Amino acid sequence: MRSRTQPTRRWKDWQMKKFKIIPIFVPHRGCPHQCSFCNQRHITGAACDVTAHDARQIIEKYLSTIDTNKHRAEVAFYGGSFTAIDPGQQNELLDVALEYKNAGKIQGIRLSTRPDAISCEILDNLKSKKVTEIELGVQSMCDDVLLANKRGHTAADVQRAVDLIREYDFSLGLQMMVGLLGDSMEKSLYTAKKLIELSPDFVRIYPTLVFRDTDLYDEYVAGRYAPLTLEQAAQTCAPLVRLFEQASIKIIRLGLLVTEDEAKENLVAGPYHPRFREIVYDIIEKDSPRCI
Ligand code: SF4
Repeated sequence: MRSRTQPTRRWKDWQMKKFKIIPIFVPHRGCPHQCSFCNQRHITGAACDVTAHDARQIIEKYLSTIDTNKHRAEVAFYGGSFTAIDPGQQNELLDVALEYKNAGKIQGIRLSTRPDAISCEILDNLKSKKVTEIELGVQSMCDDVLLANKRGHTAADVQRAVDLIREYDFSLGLQMMVGLLGDSMEKSLYTAKKLIELSPDFVRIYPTLVFRDTDLYDEYVAGRYAPLTLEQAAQTCAPLVRLFEQASIKIIRLGLLVTEDEAKENLVAGPYHPRFREIVYDIIEKDSPRCI
């Protein structure tokens, strides 16, 4: 098994922007319940359950636009708890991706899931389907924050899942959020440090937004939750970015990607900005300008 600090070939390709992702959204599928802040159907704009037929059509459409001589094409199942979907349905989708991988038309298969939906049996199956990368929604390493936001798992579940994923030698991504219900700057810093100890290949950092039809929306309307302002969110993320960069952990996303329509219709409050990453890096630059 490679060492946790050894960069992978895949990782070098990421840095050189050689990857082209073919996203297949499976909004909320497999999720045992609704986390307080989440409405994937609003975030992704995808409302229907994707079938194997749909997956094939999406892959073909994307492949027709990708120069596979220049880029590695990877199919990504995002937007739900993939490994908690009924195994038969999981495999229907994975088999489509596997067919394209075996034909050499795509080079990787990735998926996102929950920390409590990882087991040896699940990972054995993912290996047999040639999945290359697993991304875990961690969101916080503070149990009180996880509980307040109805995540349904603990920080210990994250540790167990990461240990197993590493044992099976999958590439690993971790997601964290800032500004959750019951969260604080200190808790965000604690979470970032804990994630660094887990040595992921990359992380994503999302400021919490308030979407319609979520428990967080109800809390917000009742005056029991106040989202971070854009300035507060950027100021919270800046030190996290420094920590991850000092640990040489790539941040592949800073700020949630929301479709324009969904932002207009369903995003009610919170620090959304399409160029959030730039705002955070402006703060970092001002605090520690580079020598010229
Ligand atoms: S945050 Fe993840 S686990 Fe929670 S409801 Fe949304 S997709 Fe499901």
